Amino acid sequence: MPPPVLRVALPLPLPTLFDYLPDDPDAPAAGWVGCRVRVRVGPRLLVGLVAAVAEHSEAPGALRTIETRLDPAPLIEGELWTSLHWLADYYRAPLGEVLALALPVPLRQGEALPEPDRDRFAACPEAPPRVRPGGRPAALWEALSAGPCGADDLALIDAGWRPRLRRWEAEGRLRRLPPEPPAPRPAHLALNAEQQAAVDALRGLDGFAPVLLQGVTGSGKTEVYLELLADVLAAGGQALVLVPEIALTPQTVRRFRARLGDAVRVLHSGLADGERAQAWTAMARGEPGVLVGTRSAALAPLPRGRLIIIDEEHDGSYKQQDGVRYSARDLLLVRGQALRVPVLLGSATPSLESLQQVERGRYRRLALTRRAGAGQPPEVTVLDVRAQRLQGGLARESLAAIEATLVAGGQVLVFRNRRGFAPVLLCHDCGYSAQCQRCDSAMTVHAGGRRLHCHHCGAQRPPPNACPDCGSLGLQPQGQGTERLEAFLAERFREVPVVRIDRDSTRRRDALVELLGKLGERPGILVGTQMLAKGHDLAQLALVVVVGVDEGLYSPDFRAAERLSQLLIQVAGRAGRAERRGRVLLQTHHPQHPLLATLLSGGYPAAASELLAERRLLGYPPAAHWALIRAEAQQDADWQGFLDQARTLLAEPALDAGVDLRGPLPAPKPRRAGFQRGQLLLAAGQRPALQRVLDATWRQLHSLPLARRVRWSLDVDPVDL
Ligand code: ADP
Ligand code: ZN
Ligand code: ZN
Repeated sequence: MPPPVLRVALPLPLPTLFDYLPDDPDAPAAGWVGCRVRVRVGPRLLVGLVAAVAEHSEAPGALRTIETRLDPAPLIEGELWTSLHWLADYYRAPLGEVLALALPVPLRQGEALPEPDRDRFAACPEAPPRVRPGGRPAALWEALSAGPCGADDLALIDAGWRPRLRRWEAEGRLRRLPPEPPAPRPAHLALNAEQQAAVDALRGLDGFAPVLLQGVTGSGKTEVYLELLADVLAAGGQALVLVPEIALTPQTVRRFRARLGDAVRVLHSGLADGERAQAWTAMARGEPGVLVGTRSAALAPLPRGRLIIIDEEHDGSYKQQDGVRYSARDLLLVRGQALRVPVLLGSATPSLESLQQVERGRYRRLALTRRAGAGQPPEVTVLDVRAQRLQGGLARESLAAIEATLVAGGQVLVFRNRRGFAPVLLCHDCGYSAQCQRCDSAMTVHAGGRRLHCHHCGAQRPPPNACPDCGSLGLQPQGQGTERLEAFLAERFREVPVVRIDRDSTRRRDALVELLGKLGERPGILVGTQMLAKGHDLAQLALVVVVGVDEGLYSPDFRAAERLSQLLIQVAGRAGRAERRGRVLLQTHHPQHPLLATLLSGGYPAAASELLAERRLLGYPPAAHWALIRAEAQQDADWQGFLDQARTLLAEPALDAGVDLRGPLPAPKPRRAGFQRGQLLLAAGQRPALQRVLDATWRQLHSLPLARRVRWSLDVDPVDL
């Protein structure tokens, strides 16, 4: 019998598997699937996973033999294996890229699974090692003889404990014990009636159930999560909590640990690769625990999963915007179904997608309508800044309110969703503005006016000394960025700390914590972007001033109004978390704008239902289902040509399925980083119709004649155009 053919998924942007022969033809064919192998591709060595075993290969020519098998047993299996296949199918991503994305870097590169880090060790008293009394080995043995020890205990005695323990274990002097079972602590707060009702409803669920926990900011959603997570741990199960990138602060982790203990593991991009591999492996081994993580944690193994929580389910960071373009929220709904467990989506400002599911009876909704504890909802005032002389971008009333808040010992948040010094450098004489040479966008002024940065492609240059168009020396930074607000406020309120929080000021790991630490509980001012909209709890925050919401009111992006509403509600919700009633001042040139009026009178629910009605009228998601093919090239003719070919390929299947093709058209930003960009939109009333068309065509997209001349991508359920 000929040896089986291994069909290997490799991390390459090609829509195929790659066939190889096993190095050991006698290895049982069934044991390969899900194991990593190292193989040669041209001159390169790559690590892939065996996706299937076949009897024959369709590939032309003789097959190569794999170099090495890296796992004796499947690394990915069961529900995760199935769900990752779903991900690759649904988003039309190469399986090898999806599997690579799901693995922590060391495993992706072929390293062995890390040793468990929470196992404990106990001495076998009948087999003592020979050690010199008084030395470190003797101290280690003494500790182990006194009772089971974990890595933390042993590292305190001897930093080099690992090799020694490995030797003793091999010599039969030690026993390895599984990690201590998690022991959640009792809650220190009594749940209020609404929280208790939510917990009771969720405890009563059995099997897959999507539930939207819609609770105003500060209503105690996190306490509801903790209660349910404690149940999961008490039953020896696993749970996943997905949080937005910027919400995973040490304060958040501390809160989970305070209640759930060491069973809380964290997974996010700031961790070292080794730590990520540890957390991943612990979950894969089925250790009871709660994994709290950002987007990529949605791809972690959960063999004993009992509950999935998606906090701030509307958050934009759950959609990956490059490489494998997937929605972690949607993936987790699929995983919840496969695991047959409840999926809890929490938010004060749910996405229109989730609200529509509630309307259709597909998700159940539980509501928390009041702030928990002492907090009251903030008082919101719209400040009409038309025809007002602003100082540093701030209205007279805003400055007075800041002053009064500081004097009363409170903290102030000045919110501006624009980093840098000023959004444009403008010539006062002729109207010239500094543009990025490689994009169709104005450059942002940084470093107090000494640099220009493009926020789209990252290009930087010094500003011109004189206007390149008219020679005038009257070039002036126009408008406010967080940097400029910070400078103005620091000058104006010298007695208090002014701390800026945005992507620039928090580039370094731990910078966010340091900056917030600098402020502490004292009176002071925070200036920042949406990074401040969630995460860290600011107990002393009494006033929020929102500067410049106007761009969001008139943006061409069809999701802008939804995002702006969510952001305003979230930012406003930061005010007055403790005893004092918070105030929110909204500076705008459009006080009569209907969206602001709706938000003020009916809050987020009213705004959301208007926005949803509008989307239905326009036939936009979630009332329609979209896929977007983007292409970019040095020449317009190339992307245009590629998208024309794509349109021809799609035309017939689209017609049969009733899917609309719109384009090719230039992208909303037609030039970026020196590339010309275009797009072709597929729009369908029903998801299955869209999937049918993609099914019939996506592989052929890769082999269109112009596919190699352009950079292109397919985005299923794009969040922006
Ligand atoms: P959310 O996650 O909905 O924003 P949190 O769970 O962070 O709300 O709760 C907001 C604040 O209210 C926290 O300071 C929390 O300690 C407090 N809190 C929550 N539930 C209760 C409760 N039942 N009794 C008293 N205080 C509570
Ligand atoms: Zn000029
Ligand atoms: Zn640019």
